[in-house]
Formats: sequence, C-alpha cells, structure tokens
Amino acid sequence: MKAEKGTPAGALSPDSPAALDTSRARAIVLFGSPGSGKGTQSKYLVEWLGIPQISTGDMLRDHMRRGDAIGLSVTDRMRAGSLVSDELVNELVRERISEPDCDNGFILDGYPRTPAQAEEMLRLVAERGAEEVVIHLVVDYNVIISRMTGRRVCPKCGTLYNSVSRPPKIEGICDLDGTALVVREDDREDVVRRRLAEYERQTQPLIDFFRRSSRRLIEVDASHDKPEAVFRKIQARLESVNGG
Ligand code: AMP
Repeated sequence: MKAEKGTPAGALSPDSPAALDTSRARAIVLFGSPGSGKGTQSKYLVEWLGIPQISTGDMLRDHMRRGDAIGLSVTDRMRAGSLVSDELVNELVRERISEPDCDNGFILDGYPRTPAQAEEMLRLVAERGAEEVVIHLVVDYNVIISRMTGRRVCPKCGTLYNSVSRPPKIEGICDLDGTALVVREDDREDVVRRRLAEYERQTQPLIDFFRRSSRRLIEVDASHDKPEAVFRKIQARLESVNGG
C-alpha cells in the first residue's frame, strides 16, 4: 500500500527525485548532533512520507507528566540526564510501532541510544516487516560551534538573532524593544562543546555498529547547505536505496 506524500514548503523543486516508493515500510533512524538541523529534517520527512515520528524522550516525558508507574520509575534518571534502561525503551518502542499508524513506516528519534538498543531495533523492525534506513547528518563541529555561539536572544521579548544569519540592526540590541541581547546558557561555547562531545561519545559506537551491520546507512553532509538543500540530498539518497 502506498502512502500519500506531503510536500514540505519549499523543500521540493521540479527536479526533485520522484516520491519514494513506500510499498515497503521503512524505519528511518535519524542521527544528528545538536545544531545539525535534525528537527527540521525530521519535520520534512514526516510531511513527505506521511509517517509518524516516534521520540522516546517525548514518550518518557508523557509518562512522567501522567505520573504513572513508568513515569515514576524514570524520574530520577531523566532529571539527571542519564539513560533509562534498554529493556524499558525497547518495550515502549515495540508497543508503539505495532500501532496501525506505523503500517507504512515510522521515524525513530532518540532511539537507539546504545548498541544493545540498536540490535533490538533491527530485530523489532524486521519482525514488523519493515526495513531500516539510518540517516546520519554529518556536520563540521567548527561550523556548528560558530552557528550556535553566534545566537543571541532578547531577554524581554524572546526574539532570536544570529550574528551571521540574522544580525540585529545595532549590534547587541533588540530591534523590537531596544533591550540588550544575551547569550542563552545552552549556547555558551563551553556548553556547546560539552554537548557535542557527549553526543559524539554516545553516537559514534552506533554509527560504527550500523556501518558493520546495515547496508542502508546514508551519510549526508549537513554543514553548509540550507535545510531545503540538505533535504533534497536525503530524498535523492532514499530514492537510490529504494532502487537498490
Ligand atoms: P531526549 O528528549 O531524546 O533528549 O531524551 C530525554 C531523556 O530521556 C534522556 O536524557 C534519557 O534520560 C531518556 N531517553 C530518551 N531516549 C532514550 C533511549 N533511547 N534510551 C535511554 N534513555 C532515553
């Protein structure tokens, strides 16, 4: 059965590859460091393919909000920013992907996070009659650092600026209300470097795992191009995986 595919605004041009043949459900796993544009690319994929995005972080936060047994059991680890058990997330994903809206495929976000989860994911996906495609948004960390550390925010109205892509008219001052702009805690260079190092430590073993165990690993350079251009590269690569 073929899914209806949406067209993300501005992402497709007349010479874009033909829509992906979704006769076989695809489990798309998207890896991308902080600042790589992973959120934007998953939105494009959701629209294009008409399949749901499954975020284990969101599912766990939902359980915490409801205050149920699962939520209570993960509260401490979530607050500390440490991983919850492989068994629990594997079970949550297994249940979620058995729902009917996943019949044509799904996008996994934040899962797998460990090699044990990756092995279980391949098993679950095969059991579901789908096949995995792993997309890795590869970025030059120096580009990410200058992009993220150039961000400024107005503490009064929340408007975001960027010294490269969206500078204020007067340096350091909000265009809208004249307030002095600040650097968000998350965007400080030492914090950005720490987050990137942590991402690398967690993700590199998984990328290595998929290089060894899956022929469907798509690595796309996402450092320099606009998000629409990165998405077109992803579309083209998904098409060729489709044909191969
Ligand atoms: P995220 O929103 O993906 O950054 O996830 C937020 C938190 O949820 C993480 O810091 C972990 O505590 C937990 N979490 C989310 N996904 C996983 C996973 N695949 N394995 C273990 N813990 C996870």
